[in-house]
Amino acid sequence: TTPFDVEKIRKDFPILQRQVNGNPLVYFDNAATSQTPKVVIDAIVDYYSRYNANIHRGVHTLSQEATDAYEKSRIKLQKHFNAAKAHEMIFTSGTTHGINLVANGFASFLKKGDEVIVSAMEHHSNIVPWQMLCEKTGAILRVIPMNTEGELLMDAYEELLSEKTRLVFCNHISNALGTINPIEEIIEKAHRAGAAVLVDGAQACPHIKPDVQALDVDFYVASAHKMCGPTGIGVLYGKEKWLNELPPYQGGGEMIAEVTFEKTTYAGLPHKFEAGTPNICGGIVFGVAVDYLNGIGFENIEEYEHELLAYATKELLKVEGLKIYGTSKHKTSVISFNLEGIHPYDIGTIVDKLGIAVRTGHHCAQPIMDYYKIPGTVRASFAFYNTKEEIDALVAAVKKAKAMLG
Ligand code: PMP
Repeated sequence: TTPFDVEKIRKDFPILQRQVNGNPLVYFDNAATSQTPKVVIDAIVDYYSRYNANIHRGVHTLSQEATDAYEKSRIKLQKHFNAAKAHEMIFTSGTTHGINLVANGFASFLKKGDEVIVSAMEHHSNIVPWQMLCEKTGAILRVIPMNTEGELLMDAYEELLSEKTRLVFCNHISNALGTINPIEEIIEKAHRAGAAVLVDGAQACPHIKPDVQALDVDFYVASAHKMCGPTGIGVLYGKEKWLNELPPYQGGGEMIAEVTFEKTTYAGLPHKFEAGTPNICGGIVFGVAVDYLNGIGFENIEEYEHELLAYATKELLKVEGLKIYGTSKHKTSVISFNLEGIHPYDIGTIVDKLGIAVRTGHHCAQPIMDYYKIPGTVRASFAFYNTKEEIDALVAAVKKAKAMLG
């Protein structure tokens, strides 16, 4: 990896040049969606300018070029996640799609009285599909509780595990709190109880390079749009044995071996789970985004973002009446906070007038907000292209909001 030079990196992102409400954009909503480097934008333009065609079908040159690029990208993802086989990487439309695919498949395995375990700090997309699964099958949903620092109570988790547990699902990093969960331990304990594990890596993959074989995880899901790629594309890693056992999620073209009106047989992996014309361009440029991140280097990203997190935490805590939710030592560059007596939405509106993009609300994690008995938070989430000067601008804007609203 090359030495880290934030000013040089910022030049890769055209959007960082723009003004918002007469001020330079300060983009601190990276946990929702990351920004897009020029190499990714160029790859999109290149695809539509030179070889836009449907894949896996045509013998013509364009179709072959597109198929080749799409499948090469799958191999890039395999290498990035260190999966044993390329066909264990299923292209999805994003994390939500990946989770629903697995939850839908498990509906054929679960019976009444089986148990599934979720953590207290999940995104709604890692709660609702499992609730739907429980409704369909009569399985019971159990919840790993957390403490006020925003850490899972691992003793309680151990007590929840039993021979009835079939599946555990947990995020690698919480989007609302930034906590890095001990997924190695979660996976190991689940396996000892005979349960499978799905890890929601939506928030982890922008910061960490996960090794699915070292983790021994059964399923791992991510979204490209949080990893400098486009929206509408993501990936589901699944162990081959699981993917062979799970029924297809959607029926249609591309996912069949043979179709007659009497009986249809399904294609092998990965096509069994990729019905219909996929997001071809998205799949191709997801690989370009992953190459870009690896070019910067995940060690560099982690180290620099940690510096930003420490600096922002220190500076924000100087503002009187400011409270941070999620204070684990094991956390990534996400700060969720509130100012005493002020609604998060009002702070978000004022800082936006100053060109600063933060997220306000429940961050699709209402159970966490209920736990803290708050309606929501202001969330600033940092990426490797952010700077300390931008954090200074945020702190100044928060002080201004407090003076206006307090
Ligand atoms: N899980 C987590 C932890 C997330 O942060 C998000 C996105 N906010 C999702 C799942 C859902 O991802 P997507 O909307 O890309 O499907």
